[in-house]
Parts: sequence; C-alpha cells; structure tokens
Amino acid sequence: MQGKMMAQMFYAPGDVRFEETDIPQIGDDEILVKVRTALTCGTDLKTYRRGHPTIIQHVPSTFGHEFASDVIEVGRNVDKFKIGDRVVGANTAPCFQCEACKNEQYSLCENLSYLNGAFSEYVAVPEHILNYNFYKIPDGLRYEHAALLEPLACAVHGFDTLPVRAGDYTVVIGAGPIGLMFMDLLSLAGCRVIAADLSDCRLELSRNFGSFATVNAGADDYIEQVRILTEGKGPQIVVEATGFPSAWEAAFDMARPGATVLCFGGTKAGSTVTFDCKKFHYSEITLKGVYHHTPYHVRWALDLLASAQIDGSKYISGYYPLEKTIEALDSIGNQEGIKYVILPNGTKEDLDLG
Ligand SMILES: [Zn+2]
Ligand SMILES: [Zn+2]
Repeated sequence: MQGKMMAQMFYAPGDVRFEETDIPQIGDDEILVKVRTALTCGTDLKTYRRGHPTIIQHVPSTFGHEFASDVIEVGRNVDKFKIGDRVVGANTAPCFQCEACKNEQYSLCENLSYLNGAFSEYVAVPEHILNYNFYKIPDGLRYEHAALLEPLACAVHGFDTLPVRAGDYTVVIGAGPIGLMFMDLLSLAGCRVIAADLSDCRLELSRNFGSFATVNAGADDYIEQVRILTEGKGPQIVVEATGFPSAWEAAFDMARPGATVLCFGGTKAGSTVTFDCKKFHYSEITLKGVYHHTPYHVRWALDLLASAQIDGSKYISGYYPLEKTIEALDSIGNQEGIKYVILPNGTKEDLDLG
C-alpha cells in the first residue's frame, strides 16, 4: 500500500517526534497490518529515555513492540493469513539455524532481529516472525488483551524454568507488569505468593493478582518480614522482576535452603551483585537468569489469554490516542498504572465494536 502514515519516530534519547512517514512496503512473503492497539512497556520507556542498543538499530526509527492488529495487505506467497484477519504475535522469532537454535535455546538465538513500530498506524511483519510467532487472535479475545502476548510470553518462559510445586511459598519482587504476571502464573499453579515492592500503591494492586501478603521492600526489616510470612524458613521460589542489583541481592538473601532464585529483571550493563558463597554452596541455592521468549512460550501465553486464565483486563490502566504516546510512557515512568493502551487507528469505542 502506497502512502503516508502517522508514527512516533525515535530520533535520539528524549527526542521522539509524532510525524508523517511512509507506510512500510511489504515483500511477497510479508503482510501489512493496521495497528488497532499498542501497549506501553518499560522497555519502550527505557528506549525513549536512554535509547536501546539492539532494538533501535538506525534513526529515525519507529518504535513500540506490543501490538494487536488487522491484516490489510498480504504478500503473494503468504497463505497463512488473509485480509481482515485479526492478528497478534511476538516481536522476534528465532532463526532455527544458529548454534543456540540447534540446541533448542531459542531465546539465545544469535540472529534475533526486533520488529518495531507498534506506535504507528501500520506495520510490515517480516516473513520469519510471520511464520513462527504470529497468530490469529482467538474469537472473543479483545485487541488490547491480545497485545499482552509478548510480555506474557516472557513471563511464561521464566515461570517454565521454575521447579514450582503447589503450596510453595514464592516471593515476587517488583509489582510492575512483569512481576504481576509472575504473581498470576504462580498463584494459578497453587503457590502461596507474597508481593514485594517499594510502592504501597502497587502492593495494594498486587492483591488482584493472587498474592496473599505484601511486604514493602523499603522497610528496614523487609527480609525478616518475609521470613515470618514463610513459617520462619524463607520462600522456596523467589522471582526478581525489577532489574535493580539490590533486589537481586535481597532475592538471594531471603531464599530458604534448596530454593530457586530467578533473576528476571534486566539490569544496567556493567552492574554487579554480591552474595554469600557459603549460603550458595551449603544451602544449595539455584540462581537462574532467564531472558525473552521462545515460540513454545508465545503459543502457551496466547492460550492463557484466550482462556482468560490470565485476565487481560486487570493489566489495562487507560487509553491514549497515538499522538499522546509519550504522555502514556511518562505515566508508567511515574509508576502510575500498569499498562496503557495506545490507539493508532480509531477510538476505544471502535474496539468495543470489534
Ligand atoms: Zn514489552
Ligand atoms: Zn538462531
């Protein structure tokens, strides 16, 4: 489709302009989609404020990566989708060729390239993502809830690496969108979930996501409070979802012997942490890092949303037109709300009509 569209264009950290740009052109193996809903994400906020080494590879660039859309143009070789299909997918797909992919470590694929442009009217979806990580939105699932697919796939990937048993005490540090998704998943699995965060507002909110108790991570006796809540032993599972080294250290410190600690929040490059080697060895603590998602976890996440086992409506804090994307990102930067829906085409009332 020839023509112009409106988009939020990233020029440099702090310099994002709402302007007209060309509608992306598709090849024979690609589709063009009209974005119905995009979602704010902490990664987009970081990109806006500091830039991003892998997601933004040239400037100016469209950005935003969580979205649900309608197919409006189909390349001549594509038979997976047709015009009018409601679709959603992930922002990358593994190459299935590299060493990591051959070992089935798809999140470590050496050739991940990121799809940008959720904060635009139209996006061209490349062949690889189309083939391996793109789906029709199941009937009955709203666009703004379907758009949770990518972040939920990341959380499901992390969850899948945990030796979870029903009844386990689990602490989730960080009650942002990803932390809340972990609370949802762990409580679905029958765990006893404790939420930890610096914000009392967010802790209050975490009660809607299955946590039975909350602890303010700024309290002097934070670790002691966790110990008391876990029958004096500490949690069997700790999930860190903040990206701050001090939270990684607290996660280790509160863990009981034999516990698994998942360090999920990405920290600033060059960050280091310190932990007690004696505890690590003699108490057999497992420390895990998990990143991104795999096609298996994307599919799984879609089923969780479609079945409403993960209720998307709980994650949506409000709606903004495309031109106000930066206002929405600033709101999450100020810790107001969980996720905001950006509407590049139409209004919330249009979504209600399907
Ligand atoms: Zn995201
Ligand atoms: Zn690969």
